[in-house]
Amino acid sequence: MTGNLTVIGLGPGNPDQTTPEARAAIEAASEFFGYGPYLDRLALAPDKKRHASDNREELARARAALEMAASGRSVAVVSGGDAGVFAMAAAICEAIEQGPATWREIDFSVVPGITAMLAVAARAGAPLGHDFCAISLSDNLKPWEVIEARLRAASGAGFVLAFYNPISRARPWQLGRAFEILRETLPEATPVIFGRAVGRTDERMAVATLGDARPDQADMATCVIVGSAETRVIVRKGRAPLVYSPRSTGRPAR
Ligand code: SAH
Repeated sequence: MTGNLTVIGLGPGNPDQTTPEARAAIEAASEFFGYGPYLDRLALAPDKKRHASDNREELARARAALEMAASGRSVAVVSGGDAGVFAMAAAICEAIEQGPATWREIDFSVVPGITAMLAVAARAGAPLGHDFCAISLSDNLKPWEVIEARLRAASGAGFVLAFYNPISRARPWQLGRAFEILRETLPEATPVIFGRAVGRTDERMAVATLGDARPDQADMATCVIVGSAETRVIVRKGRAPLVYSPRSTGRPAR
């Protein structure tokens, strides 16, 4: 008997930003895999079984979940934000591709969630109002040279950039280097948004310019959005500034 496996995006942290579809999928599953703090957020009923793991064991976790689904169980794998954005859905697809043929018979589905950059952008105004791209600054799964090439290409083409995994204790210099590269082509006044733990009780928002942005304004719970040359800031009395990228654009930044 073959069971089912659903990968569920829980949203950035605010329970109101977990979709009804995700809630229904949580209700339907009986075995839960994921990073411990995400499982804690679910407050699971006692008849549901937790398989908590470290955030870095993604492929091993994917295989364990697939094995359990193949044995006939109803399995959920949870991710923060969206399950397909730098998260477990891709790890599970990798495991299915490499794994035994029986894993392809598992009833597999992905339930989307609100990804961090959308939650951060909504807090700041509309910085993703025109073309943008998302880049993970982690060089655990790709060489740093690839990241540098992508930063140059994307900023040179006029995209707004959303950085995931901007900095950590093991990766302390990458964000500073990314700012240096962007300063070569983008104006100093380009807005930089630091959105930390958005939707959670320890949320913190800050807006800087590329000229004065510092890597220590971010931590591993921060999504950093760097504007394009077109991105604007509206200063408001007694309120946080509004950052937005107009819907129309002229020439790409060079
Ligand atoms: N699947 C997740 C991303 C996982 S990668 C999603 O779609 O959001 C982990 C990175 O996501 C963190 O380093 C941070 O850059 C970002 N992130 C996750 N939750 C966040 C939140 N609540 N606020 C700001 N950034 C967040």
